[in-house]
Amino acid sequence: MKIADLAKKLDFTPKELREKISVFGYEVGKKSRTIKDKIAEEVIDKINKEKEFLEKSEAASIKDIAPRDEKKSPKTNLKTKTVVLPPIVTVKDFSTRLNLPVTEVIKELVKNGVMATINENIDFETAAIIAEDLGYSVKPAEEEKIEVKEKVSAKDLQTRPPVVTIIGHIDHGKTSLLDYIRKTNIVGGESGGITQHIGAYQIEIKKEGKKRLITFLDTPGHEAFVAMREHGTKLCDMAILVVAADEGVMPQTIEAVNHTKAAGVPIIVAINKADKPEADIERVKKQLAKINLTPEEWGGATIMIPVSAKTGKGVSGLLEMILLSTDLEGLKTSYSGTAKGVVIESHLDPQKGSTASILIQKGILKVRDIVVSGDRISKIRSMENFLGQKIREAKPSDPVRVYGFSAVPDFGEEMTAFETEKTAKEYLLELDKRRSYKGMIAQMANTVSSQKPGVQKLNVIIKADVAGSLKAVLDAVKKIKNDQGEVFVIMAGVGAVSESDVMSADASGAAILAFRALISPAAKELAQEKRIKIASFSIIYELIDEAKKMLAKLIGPIRTRKEIGTAKILAVFKHGKGEKIIGANITEGKLVNGAEVEVFRGEDQVGIGKIDSLKIKQEDVREIEKNNECGIGLEANFEMLVGDKIKAFEIEEKMPEIK
Ligand code: GDP
Repeated sequence: MKIADLAKKLDFTPKELREKISVFGYEVGKKSRTIKDKIAEEVIDKINKEKEFLEKSEAASIKDIAPRDEKKSPKTNLKTKTVVLPPIVTVKDFSTRLNLPVTEVIKELVKNGVMATINENIDFETAAIIAEDLGYSVKPAEEEKIEVKEKVSAKDLQTRPPVVTIIGHIDHGKTSLLDYIRKTNIVGGESGGITQHIGAYQIEIKKEGKKRLITFLDTPGHEAFVAMREHGTKLCDMAILVVAADEGVMPQTIEAVNHTKAAGVPIIVAINKADKPEADIERVKKQLAKINLTPEEWGGATIMIPVSAKTGKGVSGLLEMILLSTDLEGLKTSYSGTAKGVVIESHLDPQKGSTASILIQKGILKVRDIVVSGDRISKIRSMENFLGQKIREAKPSDPVRVYGFSAVPDFGEEMTAFETEKTAKEYLLELDKRRSYKGMIAQMANTVSSQKPGVQKLNVIIKADVAGSLKAVLDAVKKIKNDQGEVFVIMAGVGAVSESDVMSADASGAAILAFRALISPAAKELAQEKRIKIASFSIIYELIDEAKKMLAKLIGPIRTRKEIGTAKILAVFKHGKGEKIIGANITEGKLVNGAEVEVFRGEDQVGIGKIDSLKIKQEDVREIEKNNECGIGLEANFEMLVGDKIKAFEIEEKMPEIK
């Protein structure tokens, strides 16, 4: 059928129809003109089902109160608007954020195969794909899971000190460099005052007549980066890579660089031990260029400074460079309002109870503030700075030891402060809601798996548009099994198929079944590269059918033997090794060329063979019925005698049946 004709019939443009067809999971080229009739029928059916859904959904009832405003039609103002999206959003909230009628949004979702109703949740990726389709540019809700609403005026935004971590190979001088910096630049010159390690400290240097601060993290770089990944938070603004000028790039140097780059943290290189006679700065630069850190003077983007942690040469230049390059990034944050921070160290103090060091990210943290970290609410009893002095307030980029936690918080965990317990509770409630939503989905997936030995498992990852349909799919998939095999859901979730789904599928040899879920373009690409199967469905029984087929294929065909006839040997014409020619009379059923035979003498089986040829009066035939005499060529390695009985069998191969 011509795509143009079908498009006309369904009230689409051919381009829209092609998109639709591919959303439904059928292959269709950008320039295809025709599709198979059978697919056309299925597409019509699916489009009708969508229409039905639309009519049934709440969208129909709100249509009257929220008429479509043609002027607002989103396609006309291309990406002039930005929408901020949280990790999970209800369709209603999504439409509010887009400033569009819910009907419009539901229509767009349905157009893409996502059947979410007004109060259902969709994930960030799905919402982002839809919003972009509608002409918006998308921004993930800033850093945290939930926005804490507060007004910040421009004058409250100030440049905060950069937070720096040190990375590099063992013995290249990380500790020595930190020690030197601490001794020579500590705030107020009180280096002897650092009596306790709280996970970070600050140094002060003069730049253009102004006193400037830099915060150094004690946490080894890679741990900081792991925490950043796990908690989705930002611990540091810059990493100083220490490379010894005598030894040069070592395995841990490369590893550290990879970690840092993966975390998106910029690197400044300190080529240390420049005082040593064996130091070879140029050689180190060449080695670094090979791992994609090209020095600025060679046209690259990486600042490299020779230093000596022993003599102190070059260190002040390094510190200035840190300020210079972070100034370019504009590390501005709010210096008013309630604070947000990250846990950089924590322990149980025998006298003072649960304590943690917090690196403040924004706002001002005060004694008596109510804070939420993890799933707890605590009240700050007292605070100390890194010099062990009691303080009542802490500013952005300050490391501060906090007493009063109701339990020991985790490294890398976020901490958010509130002025009242009521607002803290509301925030925690919202956090809980999201966590339990994610937990619910994890649980749904877990109930599916059993661990019987000898049972083949078809590993699948299931993604669905909304929680309701995910549950329906999982309930149905759970039932797909027989004695030989079952479907094993290793992961299930609501939302678009993402790159990480594809990576999990790759790692576990799973196929991805997407039910009305979108597939992000990056995921599609990765799946192609890794040859991971992503099958899309908008109708549940089609998904089930496919899963059954896949499982059947995994189990493999079942072979059964069926007796088809018997014959009596009347003569043996040829006794060749491996090949016999006999004359026989068919006494029951039939003989078929290619059938397997068992030969009996009385009750005893004398051998097994296979029919090679069947002849009636010198003429080759495929099969011969009862009461006929014939010549049989046999593949057989044993002796046959007149009077022996032949039983013939056919092997049937059947795909296993799966209920
Ligand atoms: P880390 O394992 O990276 O923390 O390295 P350390 O700071 O413990 O330094 C390892 C060794 O190198 C120590 O013996 C230091 O004294 C020495 N070292 C560190 N920096 C320098 C330097 O700039 N010049 C010289 N000559 N030796 C240094």
